[in-house]
Amino acid sequence: MMHLIMLGPPGSGKGTQGEMVAQALGLPHIATGDIFRQAVKESTKMGRKAQLYMERGELVPDEVVVGIVSERLKKPDCKGGFVLDGFPRTVAQAEALNGILLGLGKKLDGAILLEVEREILVERLSGRRVCRQCGATYHLEHTPPGEPDRCDKCGGQLYQRKDDGEETVRRRLNVYAEEAGPLEAYYQERGLLRIVPANQPIKMVFADILRKLGRGQ
Ligand code: ADP
Ligand code: ADP
Ligand code: ZN
Repeated sequence: MMHLIMLGPPGSGKGTQGEMVAQALGLPHIATGDIFRQAVKESTKMGRKAQLYMERGELVPDEVVVGIVSERLKKPDCKGGFVLDGFPRTVAQAEALNGILLGLGKKLDGAILLEVEREILVERLSGRRVCRQCGATYHLEHTPPGEPDRCDKCGGQLYQRKDDGEETVRRRLNVYAEEAGPLEAYYQERGLLRIVPANQPIKMVFADILRKLGRGQ
């Protein structure tokens, strides 16, 4: 039973590590960004609303995100825990999460903070490619697909996220910087923050996370 959240700036590896941790612990990996991108693809009402914010690199309003997470965490696959990635991003969302978990009779076990310097984030985001079909993430240099522009897992086409363009990346990093301090303090005060230096090879970051969760070798 583990209820975890992944914190860190865009490009720090939340998606990559969140997926690996979830697999290792047999938990669902729930990424709010993925949920929004799916809704945009399906052009639902919520998707069309979220898209306006995502394209600008701004945060989708708290009440929209909180509603989605609240519904998602009630699903039966979250019974034994979850790895939540990309939520919370503000103290208001952190407080809302507390309320949601309280209502479900659960509590958070850890907040994993991936720390990476800004220049490296820019390089990671500009080289990021995502599968249009299954959402798998690659990097042109660090984790290239076997065949150019094809997903190794499902054969889907890879694309560059619109919000990974230079200007939007700058905006997203600034938005993160504004919210990060209070959010980290929130979990630090509750004894839940686990800081992981994430400018290391993917496997080493992963090993470090497991160690800090008391699951390492
Ligand atoms: P986030 O979800 O925090 O935005 P991602 O997991 O999508 O971050 O990673 C951003 C990009 O950096 C992706 O292209 C990913 O393949 C790559 N990446 C992730 N972790 C590492 C790492 N430890 N070293 C090098 N590249 C990485
Ligand atoms: P990254 O991991 O690169 O930061 P995400 O895929 O997590 O990006 O998020 C993409 C976009 O989706 C964000 O820039 C924001 O517009 C929206 N989003 C995702 N999660 C949240 C959240 N918890 N609160 C507000 N907006 C969010
Ligand atoms: Zn794929």
